[in-house]
Amino acid sequence: MRPSHLNSYFASLMSLKGVGPKIAQAFAKLLRGDVLLEARRIDLLLHMPVGVIDRSLQSDLATAPEGAIVTVKVTIDKHLPPPRNNRRVPYRILAHDETDDLTLTYFHAKGGYLEKQLPVGEMRYISGRLERFNGGPQITHPDHVVSEADFATMPLLEPVYPLTAGLSGKVLHKAVQASLDDLESLPEWQDQALMDREKWMPFDEALRRVHLPHDLADLEETSPVRKRLAYDECLANQLALALVRSKVKKSAGIARCWEGKLKAKLLAALPFTLTGSQTEAIADIEADLALPERMLRLVQGDVGSGKTMVALMAAADVIESGSQAAMMAPTDLLARQHYQSVKSLCEAVGIRVAVLTGKDTAATRRDTLSALEKGDIDFLLGTHALFQQTVVFADLGLAIVDEQHRFGVHQRLTLSAKGEATDLLVMTATPIPRTLVLTHYGDMDVSLLTEKPAGRKPIDTRTMNLERLPELVQRLAQAIDQGVKCYWVCPLVEESELLDATAAEDRYATLKQVFGNKVELVHGRMTSDEKRSAMEHFKDGDAQILVATTVIEVGVDVPEATIMVIEHAERFGLAQLHQLRGRVGRGDKASSCILLFKGPLGQVARERLNMMRETEDGFRIAEADLRLRGEGDVLGTKQSGLPGFRLTDPEAHKGLMEMARTEGRLIIETNPDLEGIRGAALRDLLYLFSRDEAIRLLKAG
Ligand code: ADP
Ligand code: MG
Repeated sequence: MRPSHLNSYFASLMSLKGVGPKIAQAFAKLLRGDVLLEARRIDLLLHMPVGVIDRSLQSDLATAPEGAIVTVKVTIDKHLPPPRNNRRVPYRILAHDETDDLTLTYFHAKGGYLEKQLPVGEMRYISGRLERFNGGPQITHPDHVVSEADFATMPLLEPVYPLTAGLSGKVLHKAVQASLDDLESLPEWQDQALMDREKWMPFDEALRRVHLPHDLADLEETSPVRKRLAYDECLANQLALALVRSKVKKSAGIARCWEGKLKAKLLAALPFTLTGSQTEAIADIEADLALPERMLRLVQGDVGSGKTMVALMAAADVIESGSQAAMMAPTDLLARQHYQSVKSLCEAVGIRVAVLTGKDTAATRRDTLSALEKGDIDFLLGTHALFQQTVVFADLGLAIVDEQHRFGVHQRLTLSAKGEATDLLVMTATPIPRTLVLTHYGDMDVSLLTEKPAGRKPIDTRTMNLERLPELVQRLAQAIDQGVKCYWVCPLVEESELLDATAAEDRYATLKQVFGNKVELVHGRMTSDEKRSAMEHFKDGDAQILVATTVIEVGVDVPEATIMVIEHAERFGLAQLHQLRGRVGRGDKASSCILLFKGPLGQVARERLNMMRETEDGFRIAEADLRLRGEGDVLGTKQSGLPGFRLTDPEAHKGLMEMARTEGRLIIETNPDLEGIRGAALRDLLYLFSRDEAIRLLKAG
């Protein structure tokens, strides 16, 4: 149960004067993204201003700059209502100060209301945009009109908020002010030394200061006020992750025992030696496996850095210790490809390996499942199909999730829940910037694969106008004669698989006229069997050109392929281009990538293509991608800013997330059940930032 001293924060906005069901709905939409949810005061208070109207310029009429927002003090002289039969003439009110006359103009005004607000002979403070009309100062529809007595209540710095349909700035503003009115002070959850060092104010005061700024600096994202609130958000997030992590780890981990014989056999069978990065990542994993805690590890490595080998070695260790391992890929094609690429190695050393996808025949599936349950399969590869209820492992020791960002957090938890003490290894090729790693995988340890396998040659990347297609085809023909293999990726048309497929089919047809049956085709609308046979024909048969949609984006591995053509490269995002290019340059032969574009190129598209020519460094590319597209897109979430975060800005609040991660872990180490005064305050924090699922974990023990 939420402690009652938080009630003023969680009261419905409906409890405020002037907020009825309709406006409450608009608030719900704006603040919680769903009209059906209840918008509460805390939601509104955490809605940060994006700008400010500065009314602090108080001036006399004669010197007031034209077009500026000013606040003037005037005496009301006369009302000039429009003639009764002509509503188009505005209602005007004349006023003056010592220096000049002022006209206030209202269209479609209610005379009675204005007479009450602006009585003749009285003094008023007026704030609004001042214009000069026929030479004289004029303000049309002033923003504020207040008496001398009420002047103190007029905000001289007025925050401006993001709005939604059905909600005006005025209404929002009033609701914010009313929410601040009876806000309770809360026991501090932040560390006092940190508060002192950063000169931070208490939470409720910080909220007041953001919504009732004292000076312009208060509204900057880098101000102590905003930093404090952002840090609250980071800490709530990292504390919740640390809690989850500690509970998962404590719950039944197994200290696995193995000698390393299987791994040694695999290493001996490999035609290459592992890179230093691979060896280090495997050592990290082995250290985790040997501990009596659950492993939660993320292996992050650019395309082609050899993640599959790392996964295989980890699987070998766990299998030698007597348990099973499973590896989940995001698509059927990838699952089968993983299977193909590890099958002969596994069989050579006696690992019993199988594949399970949604597209297996009923009979195959039944056989696989029964073998799995009996423990006759050591290593199972597959897709989402792996975490269906009917899939029962004899003893799943290690769950490996490849290309993680395609799966949700709950999916990776579901897979690891298939075994009592399943260790979890997640692999991603997306070079996710540090801040995002922390927000999404803050509960995981990270191993980085920074090296590429030895002997890789740089990929010669060029851009070429689509108009020169015939020339390209001619040159490709020469390369094909010399036995080269080539991917040809077709344009992404909208978000439609059907249109993608058509584009690919068209290109396939034209290339077929030149290259005959040396061309193969794969796209998302083909059946699994069709895809597989096309891939096999390309990988091991005599097909040399594979026309494809972005189904080949992730993970496809044909080391002999050395040319990548990307048609309409200007339509792809930078991360996607990088992923695609990573399909070549995997062997020791020189490779090239041709980015076919259709001009004229926009600014962003040109920068993207230039970046591709300039570097193969996934981290540099990811950073440029962030800059060009906004952070959300890197994870495919299409929002800007940190997904799920409202107060934290990756630029302005650099470093806060790391600080919060360290602190979150420290708190959980020293006070795992969040007890005592600080513990209770930290629970408040989790409630305020809607991280209370974590509190439920505390109770479950
Ligand atoms: P990714 O990290 O993109 O998943 P893969 O695991 O698919 O990369 O590996 C890419 C290619 O590099 C594969 O053909 C794999 O066999 C090969 N490879 C992996 N490790 C090494 C290594 N240490 N030396 C040479 N080639 C390697
Ligand atoms: Mg891979």
